[in-house]
Amino acid sequence: MKKIRCPKCDDFISFDETRVEPGVSLAFRCNHCGKNFSIKFKAKAEKETTGYPFGSITVVENVFCEKQIIPLSLGENMFGRRSKGTVISSPIETGDMSMDRKHCIICAERKQDKIIHTIKDFDSVTGTFVMNDILQKNERRIISDNDIITIGATTLILKLQ
Ligand SMILES: [Zn+2]
Repeated sequence: MKKIRCPKCDDFISFDETRVEPGVSLAFRCNHCGKNFSIKFKAKAEKETTGYPFGSITVVENVFCEKQIIPLSLGENMFGRRSKGTVISSPIETGDMSMDRKHCIICAERKQDKIIHTIKDFDSVTGTFVMNDILQKNERRIISDNDIITIGATTLILKLQ
């Protein structure tokens, strides 16, 4: 059981939260003062679909690896091939040896009420491509939802929803 307070007299009202349907308003009547009121409960599913508040990277399956989803954190996310002895924030499980162990950095920054994503190459051997266009040395490029990034022989997709 859960308790809510009556908006009029502040008396507690107990109810069975397991019977609450998400997104549906529930009617209450206060036993103390007789006030009728309703409360709308937030749908849990709404929260779950935005499980990655700063977006994620989908690693597309290829001959070297399975599909992977890597959540992004606020700040810098270092992407590269997972390898013993190299600790990075966002390792990709792959046999793609054309991907450096530290290949590129994807940055998620808060600008006013928006999250802006940028990418830069980490001086990799094969370079970092955004929509088939290679990033220049020290270039930091803004990327948006569904942009395709290529590192080595592997395709990554930025997902913001
Ligand atoms: Zn009341």
